Amino acid sequence: MSVFVCCLAGAVIMSEGQGVRVNDETSAVVRIVADGKATAVVVTADAPPPIVQYAAAELVRHVKKATGVTLPVAAESTVPEDYASRVFLGMTKAAGKQGLMTDKLPPEAFVIRSVGADLYIVGEEDGGDPLCPTNSKCGTLFGVYEFIETALGVRWLWPGELGTYVPRTKTIELPAVNRVVSPALRFRELAWHGMRKILDGGKMDQKDIRLGFSPEVARSYAEALSALLRRHRMGGMDAKPPTGHAFGGWWQRYGKEHPEWFMLRRDGGRGSTDPKARDVDICVTNEELQDFIVKQWDGKSVLRLGPVDRPGRCTCAACRAWDGPQPEKIPWFAKVVYETDPRAKDVFAGATSDRYARFWKTIQEKARKRNPDVLVSGSFIYENEFPAPVTGIKLNKGIYAEFVQWQDPHLRWFPMPEEAYAWVKAQWLGWQQTGLRMGYRPNYLHNGYVMPHVETRQSGDFFKFAHKHGMEGARFDSLTGQWAVHGLGLYMHLRLLNKPDLEIEEIRSEYFSAFGPAAGAVERYCDCWENYAVENVMPFLELFSTPFCGYRYRAYPLKAHKAYPIEVFAPAVKLLEEAVALARADPLPEYAERVEFLRVGLKHAQLTVQLAGIFDGKKNVPKDRLQEGTDSLAELVRFRKDHQQMYFSDLLWVTSFWERPAWNVDALAK
Ligand SMILES: [Zn+2]
Repeated sequence: MSVFVCCLAGAVIMSEGQGVRVNDETSAVVRIVADGKATAVVVTADAPPPIVQYAAAELVRHVKKATGVTLPVAAESTVPEDYASRVFLGMTKAAGKQGLMTDKLPPEAFVIRSVGADLYIVGEEDGGDPLCPTNSKCGTLFGVYEFIETALGVRWLWPGELGTYVPRTKTIELPAVNRVVSPALRFRELAWHGMRKILDGGKMDQKDIRLGFSPEVARSYAEALSALLRRHRMGGMDAKPPTGHAFGGWWQRYGKEHPEWFMLRRDGGRGSTDPKARDVDICVTNEELQDFIVKQWDGKSVLRLGPVDRPGRCTCAACRAWDGPQPEKIPWFAKVVYETDPRAKDVFAGATSDRYARFWKTIQEKARKRNPDVLVSGSFIYENEFPAPVTGIKLNKGIYAEFVQWQDPHLRWFPMPEEAYAWVKAQWLGWQQTGLRMGYRPNYLHNGYVMPHVETRQSGDFFKFAHKHGMEGARFDSLTGQWAVHGLGLYMHLRLLNKPDLEIEEIRSEYFSAFGPAAGAVERYCDCWENYAVENVMPFLELFSTPFCGYRYRAYPLKAHKAYPIEVFAPAVKLLEEAVALARADPLPEYAERVEFLRVGLKHAQLTVQLAGIFDGKKNVPKDRLQEGTDSLAELVRFRKDHQQMYFSDLLWVTSFWERPAWNVDALAK
């Protein structure tokens, strides 16, 4: 079998090469491997930077897995003669002679070009860390990944070897190619703070070590995760405009001297009755405050104007005059947004999007006197500013904000009720039509705990919709890393972040293909859980309506046994039994091993449900079930320890973020 690069689908084709003779004859072929023999040598500069060395190692590693052949790597001054093709990586003298200069390339972009039988993959480079998401001089590495993905058909499903699907072949050849490719989205990230801390040498709590990951496995998982994310071309984070709740802490700092700068409460007071309150809304129409905001700015950096991290806004007549009319009939799924958020009961609880949009524009006009190129970051389209403006206000490309569907539980998770979904889309469109720059910063990946919460269709559709309507980039909070139960959805998000033009069905097929003869059975398995999530949209919302530790999604261990009662697992268990039998028919063991990976995730979910049922929503297990609880926890921990090296779950996230706050497991110590 031979594999051809026909085109580099999905990524943006910036421009074709200019001033260079390009051989466009389709007969011109770069031969990498032919009939199980290396026909190409990988060539780097004599002293390649770390990113090129890493790119070469990644290329060699994946070609070896595909063909069994180890490609030689040579420095440019010592290239052996007896190879049909040379694959030049990064800035080499040869690339310079071909006119392949990187100084005109956009960040993270690369050129992939064949010249005769040779191939060049060239991007900007410096001495930076290949895996760092703010290192935008990574074009050569991204070019190599594009090649591996497109020419070899490699699919990176989850961290580690088993999650790397490399179709086997004896021959790798390419027709003529000449492309400049750069990422479709300027920044792309699934936030992964916890594991990044481990990579930076962070120590784990003994309680987490007892319940889940050992420190060694956490470390190796973090390394595999870091590699996976870069293989999916996560990055561009140096291009993301800064955001944040800019006025958090202002009440503590300025409230005493300038109470009039802060929100007017319904009781006639200003700001908060608590002088130490952190998140107190400002009175955006106060001109003295506006001038102060511009004065305290350094005149150079992005001017951040994100509202405080708490709903409820100033009730003064001037601020209210900037608001648009509130809807005559409040949608049933957006009541919290418009009126019932308990945290906004002393102040104005409705939509203040027009007010804040006007505030951002007002400050921009004032700030332009100091710096005409100022970029204003409104930070978040969130809470009271989530509904789109209704007064027809026009913003501009000097104002940036990120869309965060949140506040009302109906709008928060995927899947969501269809009516709510249509409304969320309308809010994106409404904001886009103001003309500001938009990013996407959702929280819904926090959903699901270690349960088989599968969701692809609505969230995938929304991501593509946002991309078509002005999304510059996306940063998800957070990657909880439950690969064996949420794997399909996570893979889809990684693929869309890199190639938002891919169709959802196409991405799903890629994922299923990694299960070989069990592809169809695994698809039925995933559909069984996605259908379950869709059928239970309303019960799930009801179940997780009460916040815990400040967040509703942290309540999951308290209710897991109600969301996923043990009896609902039986059909899914059967589907995976069928899948494993089908996969075993193939001589390649990896297909069955991948189904086993899913089975580990499912068994882990069942054991967790069993323990959750014993706690039954309480911090402590009842006295008469102490022994049962102790045994159940011991069984769960044993299972985790036995399987942690598969990376089926980011167990540190599970124990530190979800379980320890919810359950007093100390009482169950053996
Ligand atoms: Zn006001």
